[in-house]
Amino acid sequence: MAGEAGPADKLPWVGTTIFTVMSQLAEQHGAVNLGQGYPDFPPPAALVEAVARHMRAGRNQYAPMAGLPSLRDQIARKLAVTQGVAVDPVDEITVTAGGTEAIFCAIQAAIGPGDEAVLLDPAYDSYAPSVELAGGVARFVRLTRPGFAIDWPALTAALTPRTRLVAINSPHNPSGALIPRADLDRLAGVLRPTCALVLADEVYEHLVYDGHRHCSVLAQPELRARAFAVFSFGKTFNATGWKIGYCVAPPMLTQAFRRIHQYVTFAVNAPAQHALADFLRDDAGFWQALPAFYQARRDRFAALLAGSRLRLLPSRSTYFQLVDHSGVTDLGDTEFCHEMVTRHGVAAIPLSALEHEPRGRGLLRFCFAKDDATLERAAERLRAL
Ligand code: GLN
Repeated sequence: MAGEAGPADKLPWVGTTIFTVMSQLAEQHGAVNLGQGYPDFPPPAALVEAVARHMRAGRNQYAPMAGLPSLRDQIARKLAVTQGVAVDPVDEITVTAGGTEAIFCAIQAAIGPGDEAVLLDPAYDSYAPSVELAGGVARFVRLTRPGFAIDWPALTAALTPRTRLVAINSPHNPSGALIPRADLDRLAGVLRPTCALVLADEVYEHLVYDGHRHCSVLAQPELRARAFAVFSFGKTFNATGWKIGYCVAPPMLTQAFRRIHQYVTFAVNAPAQHALADFLRDDAGFWQALPAFYQARRDRFAALLAGSRLRLLPSRSTYFQLVDHSGVTDLGDTEFCHEMVTRHGVAAIPLSALEHEPRGRGLLRFCFAKDDATLERAAERLRAL
């Protein structure tokens, strides 16, 4: 039979990501964009200078597939400082095109047709489509309210002999919840009789407030042995547009990960990797200052909304603030976000866009990684609601 074009769409049920939709609407309507999560602060000047210097010095061809060795050395050194863990830069670290590529490759490495992945709900929107592209099935376990903590009976019940991956995310987007060390130990116990791997999305590792600490999966030995841990220089150096992150996993898992990474991205931007290596070597002060810096942004945003009819939920981490809008309107979060961006000049992300099973009227997620003038302009509009 003559060839006929087959369906070319592997994910017909997903739309354009909510982050892109909201940023486009914000631009169209001249709204203050507190939707998509990105800071409006620049990367450190020395880091930007270093990229230019390395470009001028001619470091403009392919970097090694797994990442620049000097950058991987610095990443290992940093993990020793932040989490007290020993990571082999040669066999356990892969530099990726942002956290999202690392998440994608880890999921492709872990999941085959018919395999199951347990995802916590709500979750960052790329997890489930990445599982489906691998031919897998996503099983959702709702985080408990109000604290967005792990529901242990539900998690345990979701595990089956087909479970190949459990994805966790701490600091958690969008709630700002943290998974405490005791929960990592408990997860290790729950997974002990299974062959499930762990995907730990830790891209907001440094944005942790009120004296809380980020507990990495890398510091829990049993989980470490079965985990892909994902990190992001975009969040750490105010450079989300560079799209550079990395994945840390034991050698066998890293091998499987790289087999996929080499055909997705192959290698990541070379001059930026050189610059990141220099900057990590010379300056630990920037990331050490992040908790205080972003905590002050969070507190400023909260203070500005004090006179509004919006109710803020606790945010311990990330640069996101969840807000209950039920004092303003009966509209669901999606309709209300649409109304806010088109009529009231502020963009937010509706929580339900990140939920498998939305509940009630939903909540709004605001990104507070913005300067005073931007937060003030947004808050003025929000107080008028
Ligand atoms: N991680 C960011 C957020 O949750 C943005 C990701 C994106 O735009 N794809 O807002």
